Amino acid sequence: MTLPVAADNSGALLNTYRRAPIEIVRGVGCELFDADGRAYLDFTSGIAVTALGHGDSGVANAIREALETGLIHVSNLFRTEPGEALAARLVELSFADHVFFCNSGAEANEAAFKFARKWARQQGGPAKHEILALRGSFHGRLFATLAATDRPQYRAAFRPLAGGISIVERDLDELRAVLDSERVAAVIVEPVQGEGGVRVLDREFLRALRALTRDHGIALILDEIQCGLGRTGTLFAYEQAGITPDLLTLAKPIAGGLPMGAVLVTEEIASVVQAGDHGTTFGGGPFISHVAQHVLARLSDPALLNHVRDMGRWFGDRLAALCESNPRVRTVRGLGLMWGVDVMPAAADVIAQAREHGLLLVSAGEHTVRFLPPLVVSREELARGLSIFEAALAST
Ligand code: PLP
Repeated sequence: MTLPVAADNSGALLNTYRRAPIEIVRGVGCELFDADGRAYLDFTSGIAVTALGHGDSGVANAIREALETGLIHVSNLFRTEPGEALAARLVELSFADHVFFCNSGAEANEAAFKFARKWARQQGGPAKHEILALRGSFHGRLFATLAATDRPQYRAAFRPLAGGISIVERDLDELRAVLDSERVAAVIVEPVQGEGGVRVLDREFLRALRALTRDHGIALILDEIQCGLGRTGTLFAYEQAGITPDLLTLAKPIAGGLPMGAVLVTEEIASVVQAGDHGTTFGGGPFISHVAQHVLARLSDPALLNHVRDMGRWFGDRLAALCESNPRVRTVRGLGLMWGVDVMPAAADVIAQAREHGLLLVSAGEHTVRFLPPLVVSREELARGLSIFEAALAST
């Protein structure tokens, strides 16, 4: 360790995270290295962020090119080309007509709530304001997104949360009853719930929800902050359900590890948004947008998406076989390169053992271990990760 050892592993940092007792100093591809020179296979991707792995030369070149203009930031008081070009490309690749940029996932969802609420009120009058999220959801840690996040332990100490936002069951009958109300403005859904245990919502459910929201003049917001941008094997997860939302939120991998969020909206939603309705100092700046253009080009490459589908199928089959043969594995869920494995021991213990054996994993609930490898991961690396995971399970 080059860092002084603090009792709580955080030193001068506020203690909001239980950090693992390793200091990461370097990264190459799917591997991270600690200060003692130990290598770890990184199947966290910084929680679904570094889709292109670490130390990617294309990202490094894009950063260098962006720096050559001398522009890191000029604010949204002026037009800059990279942000406009990035928005135009996102529009070409998606259902959307316009894009708002911000700096994180929670910010993207907060913005989406505002746009959806304004639109809904203009359609249905002042009472049409409620935003619904689903059981098991995670949409962020700010006051409105926390109200839409189904984690009592994250919420309890911070009440009152933002009003007009509630959680409903992932159940079509219940949704049918709840959505039949003049008060509901929007429903926000992760097509694959990430933090909630890697739960893939089924296509029929998403299609029925799309039809219901459309029939009731309710905005459908898809949160693809974790599952979007190639993670499930298509650029957007919604493509696999054959639906399109009214708003879509993105963040995590979009700028290769630099902080960026985005809200994609239809023309209809955009038509109610006026100058001054929302804003952010940093959002969509020229430096970050230039880098994000490069990342988006790579993540939307059909060859990469094909690779994710191939690797995902292979990995999913191996995990299913492990589930059959290993009594310490209860179930396996996932899609593409986003997998959750329910284990008998505490997930934290399995993750700590895996780290000891050279594999980094993240939990998604007390007994769920989550696999989020970089999308460029090879079959050999997946196989290596799997055998370390098995060894970790055996020693937990
Ligand atoms: N939405 C989803 C689905 C997420 O997984 C996350 C983060 O894990 C967020 C929103 C919040 O994103 P951020 O941490 O960038 O605010």
